[in-house]
Amino acid sequence: MPRRRKVYEGKAKVLFEGPEPGTLVQYFKDDATAFNNEKHGIITGKGVLNNRISEYIMTRLGEVGVPTHFVRRLNMREQLIREVEIIPVEVIVRNVAAGSMSKRLGIAEGTPLPRSIVEYCYKSDELGDPLVTEEHVTCFGWASPPELDEMMSLSLRVNDFLYGLFVAVGIRLIDFKIEFGRLYQDEDMRIVLADEISPDSCRLWDIESNEKLDKDRFRRDLGGVAEAYQEVARRLGILPEGGPRDLKGPAVMQ
Ligand code: UDP
Repeated sequence: MPRRRKVYEGKAKVLFEGPEPGTLVQYFKDDATAFNNEKHGIITGKGVLNNRISEYIMTRLGEVGVPTHFVRRLNMREQLIREVEIIPVEVIVRNVAAGSMSKRLGIAEGTPLPRSIVEYCYKSDELGDPLVTEEHVTCFGWASPPELDEMMSLSLRVNDFLYGLFVAVGIRLIDFKIEFGRLYQDEDMRIVLADEISPDSCRLWDIESNEKLDKDRFRRDLGGVAEAYQEVARRLGILPEGGPRDLKGPAVMQ
């Protein structure tokens, strides 16, 4: 079988050419980075867990009518996705103050927000993903005004749905980051959810203890990163049978 062509390699994922035109294979690595690439580590089993968690969340979102790039999971570390043109804007939705917002505005982490807040960051490693306004997004043509409206309304729908999904399993959704892409089909174009939704891109706290079950365990050297991701999967009812030992994926393809 011919080796698949690598289309793109990011910090936590690799994209390969898919089996049919218009598809890609998204491979989840165990690599973790933080603080604009200054901190790097390997969290054994993270890729397998994120592949499964993101599959579950994208599937559930699809069921409630949120369009996504997800097609199906292929194996422990790979999923088939539709090829989209990624919009270079990260959308962050916040329910509770934490992370960069707490720092920037001096609001204690854990302070509930009176209403959900949507923020935009320009996707640029060199610039460290700066916070931008809607004006920047439309002025520089990263997304058109109708596209941005659609992204905002989809983001709030994702937040409402995920908030409930996590509360039901004893987890508070503090904030999360999502990305969107343009899916071209025939003469049509529509905005769909892309990338991944996993404990790498969400802040998830245990409702009772406020224990962090997300990437902040890596960012802040709290330890037990893989165990926390596993706990999220376990609560969602999707931990592979046999637990951690089943989390070995196929060998990394280079
Ligand atoms: N986030 C992400 N990728 C980024 C930046 C942020 O997935 O490049 C997520 C992060 O995990 C958190 C939310 O977006 O759930 C808000 O992050 P924040 O702006 O507080 O940045 P941080 O404190 O992580 O630098």
